[in-house]
Amino acid sequence: MKSFQVCECGAPLKLVEAPTPEPVGTQVLLKVIAAGVCHSDLHIWDGFYELGGGKRMQLLERGIKLPLTMGHENVGEIVSAGPQAKGVKIGARVLAHPWMGCGECTVCKRGDEQLCKTPRNLGVFSNGGYADYLMVPHPRYLFEIGDLAPEKVAPLACSGVTTYGALKKAGAAIKDEPVVIIGAGGLGLMCLALNKMMGNKGAIVVDIDPLKRDAAKKAGALAVIDGNAPDAAQQIIAATKGGAWAVIDLVGSSATAQLGVDSLTKGGKLIIVGLFGGDITVSTPFFPMRAMAIMGSYVGSLPEMKELLDLVRAKGLPPIPLRTRPLSDVNAALNDLRAGKIVGRVVLTPA
Ligand SMILES: [Zn+2]
Ligand SMILES: [Zn+2]
Repeated sequence: MKSFQVCECGAPLKLVEAPTPEPVGTQVLLKVIAAGVCHSDLHIWDGFYELGGGKRMQLLERGIKLPLTMGHENVGEIVSAGPQAKGVKIGARVLAHPWMGCGECTVCKRGDEQLCKTPRNLGVFSNGGYADYLMVPHPRYLFEIGDLAPEKVAPLACSGVTTYGALKKAGAAIKDEPVVIIGAGGLGLMCLALNKMMGNKGAIVVDIDPLKRDAAKKAGALAVIDGNAPDAAQQIIAATKGGAWAVIDLVGSSATAQLGVDSLTKGGKLIIVGLFGGDITVSTPFFPMRAMAIMGSYVGSLPEMKELLDLVRAKGLPPIPLRTRPLSDVNAALNDLRAGKIVGRVVLTPA
């Protein structure tokens, strides 16, 4: 099999050829059809997250091991399975849920494998889909996609379930109040589309890039706001008629988190999803006096992935801009993403 691997943090991914593994036990082997390129791949590739104040969290100290095949948004065709992999149909096209835990602890048993302290996430802690074959440890992570387009389904594995999970955390208020989405890149447009499909009121989208604001407006945002405007918070408060009930920060910088806090109404929630990095200081009396919540949301659970795919089967695929590129373009695709040249999503397809 061929894989593009991170062998050294920040250095170009290397093409590595190795024998294609045989599935054992409950393992299922997929031939990769589509692998989405995600912004978080840039952090994994670099090997750190910015923590603000010049501090960094080193991913190699958090259990990520090199060489690593990245790629966590994968659709493939089942080619073989181990003897204990029950209910697997050879030839079926499936989405691989990448947010895998140990499967044994109480957290995993509750359905929150994404919060397990022994993560096995595909493309992060175990080899992912920037390859022609992908091994998945158990069939419970696989969802048949029928005749849905693989390149359009792949981004649901991260971009989709991450924004779906964040929108669910926003709670009942966004049924009849606009949600504020900060960041109109691939994740933002996905969030906007899913919010609509879920039957919520609508979204106000904030971005510093006019091209991305245009894309959000065309995709049906109720309003778009320049996050760099000195009165951005006042504009959000005006657009939400008194402050936001829920702000989903898909960037996660010092500036966007601060803007989120400044834009909330009483009882409002800031949900931080993006990993850009930074820090903020919040006066503690604001928490009780404004009944404010700041929380994080990390990807999504296996039950949320199932709900999301049910939603897609009922309402259709989210219409996000998408471009396919051959797998061999992986380094160029990652560099374009870093340079901010990509609107929507790039999905790699092995030749
Ligand atoms: Zn991702
Ligand atoms: Zn676990």
